[in-house]
Amino acid sequence: MIPEGFPETAARLCAACGMCCDGTMFQIVRMQPGEVPAELGRLGLKIRCREGEYFMEQPCSALVEKRCTVYEKRPVRCRLFNCQQLARVERGEIAETEAMTMIVETRAMVERARALIEQCGLREDGQDLVTRYERVMSTPVNETLEPELVKPREELDETMRKLKLRLNREFRVPPNSH
Ligand code: SF4
Ligand code: SF4
Repeated sequence: MIPEGFPETAARLCAACGMCCDGTMFQIVRMQPGEVPAELGRLGLKIRCREGEYFMEQPCSALVEKRCTVYEKRPVRCRLFNCQQLARVERGEIAETEAMTMIVETRAMVERARALIEQCGLREDGQDLVTRYERVMSTPVNETLEPELVKPREELDETMRKLKLRLNREFRVPPNSH
């Protein structure tokens, strides 16, 4: 049975999170059959096409202060997605407070990773988190000439490793589970 007030609970949790829209969890959102890419593009969404497949780039341009500004017209994949935290609350397996703690802790890891990326010399440029992390790690560093970059890179690598595990275990929906 869905707990009473679940939509309000979900709204509170998502308003504190935004990770499935801000380029933390996903790099793209695929368009689904029947969707009209041009219509979604007119909403200001970053619709792209590669080899005949349409997708939306993340971070999403419709996310403002962790809220979807095109909620009523959002793409199909956005409508279907419920992260594992929401699903567990909906099934009554965990309380809202537990999910909120998980979100707050995970967001802190994301903010730490972002700060480390900046420390490594890559300014915020609107790309998703994994792409920015990979750009940092693929840039060669001379440990003698740039010793100040060694520790932030190591910490970034470790933070991203832990973050990936946590997102897979606590937020992403395993394939074929729905
Ligand atoms: S990851 Fe879950 S809690 Fe966070 S915004 Fe997306 S659906 Fe909401
Ligand atoms: S359209 Fe809305 S729900 Fe979909 S990714 Fe963008 S902000 Fe999130």
